[in-house]
Amino acid sequence: MPLAPAEADSAGAAPYPARELAPGVFAVVGDTGRGSEGRPNAGFLVTAEGVVVIDALASPAQGARLLATIRAATRQPVRWLVLTHHHPDHHFGAVALRRAGAKVIAHPDRRTLASEGGDDALAADWTGVVGAEAMRGFQYANAPDRPVTGTDTLRLGGRTLVISHPGAAHSPGDLIVWLPKERVLFAGDLLVEDGVTMVVDGDSRLLLDALATLDGQNPRVVVPGHGAIPEKPATLVATTRRYLTQLQSDMRSAVERGVPMQRAIASLPPADGDRPVSLNSRRRRNAVRVYLEEERRFMGLDASP
Ligand SMILES: [Zn+2]
Repeated sequence: MPLAPAEADSAGAAPYPARELAPGVFAVVGDTGRGSEGRPNAGFLVTAEGVVVIDALASPAQGARLLATIRAATRQPVRWLVLTHHHPDHHFGAVALRRAGAKVIAHPDRRTLASEGGDDALAADWTGVVGAEAMRGFQYANAPDRPVTGTDTLRLGGRTLVISHPGAAHSPGDLIVWLPKERVLFAGDLLVEDGVTMVVDGDSRLLLDALATLDGQNPRVVVPGHGAIPEKPATLVATTRRYLTQLQSDMRSAVERGVPMQRAIASLPPADGDRPVSLNSRRRRNAVRVYLEEERRFMGLDASP
């Protein structure tokens, strides 16, 4: 019997571990204990009229395994893929879902620091990270069929997903996915397991605003972009908030006292040159970014409130 295209794409791929967070709502659990360097989390929702996938992982090979994970849970067709943002580790597997029939829901602003050299350079760089074998069959598939810049409610098979842009907090194209009935929230990289999410593509104050939004929704379960699903969502939100507010206050006081950036960040361990998202690298790069934010504000260059 000839395979349907979706089956062909996931054929031979081993499923990832999945955890059912509510009936029909699954987290595809990535690495834990590796911060932003680990394989990200993804998720999917099974409805009577098809599947909605949240994030696509870091390569076509990982996308195929994600598809195999979905196939192990349901025969329903894959209808939608929602991307929480446009960093390669969250969408370079999208082509596998797209070939399986998914239409893409994403924020249309795909700009990131990593993509400043253009799409081809980013794909080449990323091949250096995940390897040529994992990238076989790669095509960009993160341009939205259904763009979201505010709030969009997707209804499918009796289920409801509220997809919204929380501001350019972690990156310009951030989206969060909220299942109001199940009270499950997919936060993308607004949250990572160690509380040190990157703001080099975003803005620390907008991230704090976004955290207030997450808290206000009072989720039962929150799925961070990377790492363990916290026992209590509010705890991870609070850890992230504490880190950011402390960093802001340290950098603000340095700027106000005329301390140059190099001295203000001197107490932090150096960034790991070959590991741009290691914990040390994230701490250091965030400190530089937040120093610049505070400097702009101090000099009155910042138009935002
Ligand atoms: Zn990210």
